[in-house]
Amino acid sequence: MTSTAYTCKLCRRPGVAQYDETAPISDLSKWLPLLHCNHCADWLEAKNRLTAKIAQLCRIIQVGQAWHPTKPEQVRERTAKLTSAADGLEVITKAMAGAACNYFKLTNVWEQDFADLLAENPAQHPRIITDYLRRLSKMVKPRQDQFKETL
Ligand SMILES: [Zn+2]
Repeated sequence: MTSTAYTCKLCRRPGVAQYDETAPISDLSKWLPLLHCNHCADWLEAKNRLTAKIAQLCRIIQVGQAWHPTKPEQVRERTAKLTSAADGLEVITKAMAGAACNYFKLTNVWEQDFADLLAENPAQHPRIITDYLRRLSKMVKPRQDQFKETL
């Protein structure tokens, strides 16, 4: 194994990667800028997994909102699906908040508004998630600078 220094693509912290010098890496300089540290890689995996679940629930809500049944049993079915999807959004947004706050090293901050906004604007879920995560990342900036000074 050979070690090489890299900079995490996401957090920009330096790290050391190991690779097998017998592996056919044609140009290591093209691979190094793509590497993430374990902390960032875990966060990206969780974010992608939870975003996919949110997208799935938002799609159910969109379909439910577009459905205008007249039969009482269908009205009940529609209400049950919308309620279930909204409940699911609450669970998944709590998981997203937990994963994001763990990544940003913040006290767990979950807001009902996060789930409500998604349920009310399911087609806007990519923007709502991005805005939420951007707000969290802004909360961490002063602390990140402090953290760097102590390293
Ligand atoms: Zn990183």
